[in-house]
Amino acid sequence: MAKLKIARLGNPILRQIAQPVDIKELRDPDSELQVFIEGMVETMRTDGGVGLAAPQVSRSIQLVTLECEENERYPEATGIPLTVLANPVITRYSEGTALGWESCLSLIDFRGLVRRSREVTVEAFDRDGEKTVIEATGFLAIVLQHEIDHLNGKVFLDRMEDLTKLAYMEEFETYWAKEEAAET
Ligand code: ZN
Repeated sequence: MAKLKIARLGNPILRQIAQPVDIKELRDPDSELQVFIEGMVETMRTDGGVGLAAPQVSRSIQLVTLECEENERYPEATGIPLTVLANPVITRYSEGTALGWESCLSLIDFRGLVRRSREVTVEAFDRDGEKTVIEATGFLAIVLQHEIDHLNGKVFLDRMEDLTKLAYMEEFETYWAKEEAAET
């Protein structure tokens, strides 16, 4: 399965509401949908993302993939095993929120400071089409909110309260990364 092309900001597909996945198709291991999921996983890994939503590879369906090994680019991140979610819905948001710097494969080179709920509950179907419930905190909660936003036509820019905290990656490293480190 070849790597898929990333839709970048300005591509209207990123602003559409994605269609639900057919769970029957998901349950068929030989389905074209399973081949597509393989392509999403490969694309996420090749491009170094911790999450990818199907609209980001130009398919407007409610599918996201997540995976994160502990790495230098996200020193605050705890590991996330490979996770595939179809038709995910956030059913609970914590009252507590936190600000964190986010990036996105569709806005490559940018980082922005975004407020997110510290904890969320997500109901979805897993890769085999089984119902699953995830009680997420910390980095996983943030990644889930970011990816599920993509299914609703939103990108992290829409969540920013202060656009002066939008930076190119290089300027982020120069001017903001130290401050972030000092806060934590
Ligand atoms: Zn994104």
